[in-house]
Order: sequence, then structure tokens, then C-alpha cells
Amino acid sequence: MRAVVFERFGGRPEVRELPDPAPSPEGVVVRVEATGVCRSDWHGWQGHDPDIALPHVPGHELSGTVAATGARVTRFRAGDRVTVPFVCACGTCPACAQGDQQVCERQTQPGFTHHGSFAEYVALDHADTNLVGLPDGLAHPTAAGLGCRFATAHRAVTARGRVAPGEWVAVHGCGGVGLSAVMIAAAAGARVLAVDVSPDALELARRFGAEVCLDARVGVVPADSAVRPGSGGEVAAAVRELTGGGAHLSLDALGSPATCVASVEGLRRRGRHVQVGLLPPATGRPVVPMDRVIAHELEILGSHGMAAHAYPALLAQVADGTLRPDLLVTAVRPLAEAPDALAALGAAPGVPGITVIEPWA
Ligand SMILES: [Zn+2]
Ligand SMILES: [Zn+2]
Repeated sequence: MRAVVFERFGGRPEVRELPDPAPSPEGVVVRVEATGVCRSDWHGWQGHDPDIALPHVPGHELSGTVAATGARVTRFRAGDRVTVPFVCACGTCPACAQGDQQVCERQTQPGFTHHGSFAEYVALDHADTNLVGLPDGLAHPTAAGLGCRFATAHRAVTARGRVAPGEWVAVHGCGGVGLSAVMIAAAAGARVLAVDVSPDALELARRFGAEVCLDARVGVVPADSAVRPGSGGEVAAAVRELTGGGAHLSLDALGSPATCVASVEGLRRRGRHVQVGLLPPATGRPVVPMDRVIAHELEILGSHGMAAHAYPALLAQVADGTLRPDLLVTAVRPLAEAPDALAALGAAPGVPGITVIEPWA
């Protein structure tokens, strides 16, 4: 099969021939019809993920059709259209037994713990626990994002963030996961404030339901404001001013020390911060103001993907048009262009929207 491979961290990935994968007894091989290019892939390529062994094939948010099944797979068969949470759970550890497969103790992740979906085929383990069947009407490029960003954002805003109608929701970072969060929070009836350094990303955020957009570099605040935003605490001050005291719920959807701290400091009293963007230690650890956390009774929450069994509620909202993940896909490119698409994630401001690779195009 053809796959995108890198030999060393940060080295130029290239498309080359690799042996086709074979399914494990409880696993499947999926023919990859679409796979999203995600910031986590960029982190992995840069060497920020200790699970990755070289040479490596990135890619973890995919949609496709089952091509081969292991002997012990009972719920899926060849030809089924599927996606999969990027956290593939074991199904039997204590976390899985409680229904928390998204934090499985023996999880595997395509594109991290083994070769991923920037390839014509990908192997996935414990298929009966992890695969999510797709409705016929859901196109593969749209479904790919359900494996990572859209599902992650959905769980972060709803199950973890407990969004309520009328609340202010601040979203720091409007890449794929941030734009998804904007759309999901707006659909839940929240008032959304989007923060980014890219006017193009903010324009998309506005289109997907953000009521207020804040450029973290130059600031978009009322003319009579005393706030002079530019960076760090000034972003948080602008968020508090623009939301009449602070966000009820705030997400760091980028994953950086600056956006994490700005998200926490932009909360109103008793507000909830949800960390969604990865913060690999290599990028520096944020200094979270715990004095503010206690004085204002803030909640600091993490959100890590979504278990396969939680997908029906999300798929129902997609089916009835409440949520439109199809609108988030701004580019569809062939496998040969995956290396450039991966590299583009390192630029700031990044590429607005979601780029999807179609390996068979
Ligand atoms: Zn991802
Ligand atoms: Zn488990």
C-alpha cells in the first residue's frame, strides 16, 4: 500500500510503498477513504509524543470501509462504513468497565502507538469496542473529523463543559477542534466568544456561530474599552470585559501555555475551564493560577476524545442538521500532498478550517 512515512522527527515525510497491514484476532483493517490533518499529527511528527517509534506513519482521524476482520470480531464485517475514536480502548480494563473508554488504561492510538491513517489501509485493534458505524448519508471527508476533533469538541463542550443555553463560552484557538466547539456551543444556545490570531479563522468562527471574535494579536474590543489587548493577561481581560464579567465555560482548543492561562483567567467566578488542545511537556507547561482557581471556585477539567458508545447522540445531531461538520472541511487533497499539509500546521496563523486527505483519490 501507499503510505506517508517519516524516518526522523521533523524530517520530511514521503509517500512510499509499505506492506499491507493484517488484522489482529480482535481487530480490523480499514480501507482509509478520508483522514484529517490534525495538530496532534504535527506534534507527533515534531517528536512531542513518546509513544511514536520510527519510522512512522501519522494519521488518527479517519473514515473508511472495513477491508478485513480478525477471527474474533463479531459486530463488523467487510464493507461496513466506519469511523473510530482516536483512543482505541481495550474494552476490559477498569476504566473501560466504567464506560470511560476515552481514558482506557491500555489504549492504542493509530498514528501514535502504531502506524496511522495517512495510508491506503490502517489496522485497528479491539474493533467491536471501538468502531462506529456510519449512516449512509454521511460522507467520508466529514466523518473523518468525527474520529477526533468534532467528537472531542462535542464531549468537551457538552459532557465535560456542561454548556447551558445563554451562557458565555470562550473558545481559545479556532483550528479544527476550536471551530467545532464554536459550532457545538452555538447549537446548544450558548453565546460564543472566539479567540484566535488569524482573521481568516475568526471569520470562519463567526460563520459557525461566534457572536464575538477577538483577535489575540491586535484585539477587537469596543472602542470605549479601557482594555488594550495584545497578549497574555490582556486577552483574558478582554474576554472578561466582552462577556460582562467572564466566560461561564472556556476551552483551550489550541494547547499552549499562553492559551491555557488566558482561558483560565478569562473565566467568571465558578467558571469551568476545559483543556482540549494537547500540551506536550516539550512545548512548556502552563503556570495555572491556582490562587484564582480557589478564590473564584473555578473548575479545571480535561477532555480526551469520546468513547465509541457515546457517538449516537452526536450522530443524531449531525443527521438532523443541528450540527454541520461538513462545513468545517475547507480542503480535500490527495495523499501526495499530505506532507505539505502536515508542515502547514506548524505555521502561525495556521490554515483555517480542516484539511482532509483522500488516500485513494
Ligand atoms: Zn486529531
Ligand atoms: Zn481499557
